[in-house]
Amino acid sequence: MFGIFSLPKILFTIAVIAAVWYGFKWLNRRAQVQQQQSDNAGRVEAGAAKAPDVEEMVQCPDCGAYVAKGGGHRCT
Ligand SMILES: [Zn+2]
Repeated sequence: MFGIFSLPKILFTIAVIAAVWYGFKWLNRRAQVQQQQSDNAGRVEAGAAKAPDVEEMVQCPDCGAYVAKGGGHRCT
């Protein structure tokens, strides 16, 4: 049954896969843009208070726990 109908089927399958692939890429790009926009909006709303907390998280060289830098962490 690999006659004259197989080539259009293959082409159709490739077209569907390409459409799904580009659809996913488009959705991902849209989600990234929306996330960047919401991140920027959140940064504006939260001010500079949020970013330093994230940047000051460091891994303790002794116990391996992620702790705030200069936060008075003591290994138990
Ligand atoms: Zn520690």
